[in-house]
Amino acid sequence: MATVTAELADEYLNLVDGQWVGARNDEWIPVESPRDRRTIARVPRGGEKDIADAVNAAGRAFPGWRDTAPRARGRLLQQIADALEPHVERIARIISVENGNALRTQSRGEVNFAIDVFRYFGSVAGEIKGETIPLNATVLDYSRREPLGVVGAITPWNAPVQLAVMKIASALAAGNTLVLKAAEDAPLAVLEIAKIADEFLPRGVLNVIVGYGTEAGEALITHPDVRKLSFTGSTAVGSRVMAAASDRILPVSLELGGKNPQIVYPDANEDWVAQGTITGMRFVRQGQSCTAGSRLFVHKSILDSFVDKVTTNLAKLKVGDPLDEDSDIGAIVNKKQFDRVCGYIDDGLQRSNTTAAVGGRPPTEGPLSEGYYVEPTVIVGVENDWRIAQEEIFGPVMCVIPWEDEDDVIRMANDTHYGLSAFIWTHDIGRALRAAHSIEAGWVQVNQGGGQVLGQSYGGYKRSGIGREFSLEGMIESFTQRKHVSIDTNR
Ligand code: NAD
Repeated sequence: MATVTAELADEYLNLVDGQWVGARNDEWIPVESPRDRRTIARVPRGGEKDIADAVNAAGRAFPGWRDTAPRARGRLLQQIADALEPHVERIARIISVENGNALRTQSRGEVNFAIDVFRYFGSVAGEIKGETIPLNATVLDYSRREPLGVVGAITPWNAPVQLAVMKIASALAAGNTLVLKAAEDAPLAVLEIAKIADEFLPRGVLNVIVGYGTEAGEALITHPDVRKLSFTGSTAVGSRVMAAASDRILPVSLELGGKNPQIVYPDANEDWVAQGTITGMRFVRQGQSCTAGSRLFVHKSILDSFVDKVTTNLAKLKVGDPLDEDSDIGAIVNKKQFDRVCGYIDDGLQRSNTTAAVGGRPPTEGPLSEGYYVEPTVIVGVENDWRIAQEEIFGPVMCVIPWEDEDDVIRMANDTHYGLSAFIWTHDIGRALRAAHSIEAGWVQVNQGGGQVLGQSYGGYKRSGIGREFSLEGMIESFTQRKHVSIDTNR
């Protein structure tokens, strides 16, 4: 295994009111690396008191930050982007060590994307505009987009830096202050980013607490002074966040899970399509992506030959140590998730008539048995109403479901509680557009399988969430409230 040259500290602290502090109860959470199951650092086990300190600090910082000129706020965000540039490699290595994502295929790109996010929201901070309404000759009516106040943000571990920075940059650009509860499984790179951001921001504008969801997370979503909840994570916890918000009529943004369909038409039995479905499945992120196209609907007439193409291309991807430049695919984030994924694979393969076209149960000896590694797995012969086709596995497991009739495949694609993303593969643009318009998902891609793009109002239908944060419009909708001022100019 490659040595960890990342500059990891033994101990990381929370950021509260511009100070780096341990948890008030002096308790800690060990952070284990999924690449070799070694403990790599410890972080504070933040709880109610830490959240209260952070929310109070954010509340004190709010008036000053709100009244800072938007373009001046934007300039600070851009300075943070510039300051992050020299740290890409170091922070990318930390992500790979803490959450198992491969350095070459994932983590470097994630940090570069985060820099772009600071630049994007920094550059549009001055675009938060209101309107005037032509009521009559003497009344001037105009609207303002005002920030909400203290935002409580909660993020998961799968793309920890990208998802945290999305919330930090957009909420702050709009003039809010923020308390971020980072994911306990992968908090280190986020704290490294906060360290750099904190050098530019006034104290209390950005606060970061690490802790468990049931402790720090609950304290944040129920704190009376938080004015907005912005959550990315599972649908089950998203539902709890929404319930807590309803007690105080708080606005919420929820970016939740997915069980996304990929539909392969008979005219698309080609190698580039097979490669595209592998990208869409996010196999190089171990399938740990909300947009993973994990239900592969393949037309019956091309089933065997298309699955062959998928497995041939998958065999070219190497599973290995996330820090190794040769690895395309890294490790599953933790034991809980590893056991869960293995449970789903067992469940799928125990059914009669299913086969693993590739992958299957994880290795029990050799270097890959030292961490939480699972080979990419393609299960053929699945039916759409089975558990493995309905529940979000959040692992490298793709279910292949045959189809014959176009109406039927659209019905199956929509037969899920989720509605985040979808992928359609065909040369027939008419068919592609018919399918794209019929599918219940916030983002449909045709003949491409890439990840989210900045500036696009990305988000979910159905239980995949509400709200959009990835764009200027999303930032305005998610992090400001509209106020009208009406003036009788005759008096
Ligand atoms: P999770 O819901 O278990 O945890 C997410 C965060 O919520 C963590 O920080 C956790 O500590 C916190 N949390 C847990 N219980 C809480 C509670 N009761 N109150 C407040 N906070 C609580 O999700 P996860 O396993 O970390 O992440 C994977 C999930 O995230 C998947 O479902 C995935 O699809 C989803 N996700 C969605 C998007 C999107 O943009 N739609 C992006 C990434 C991940």
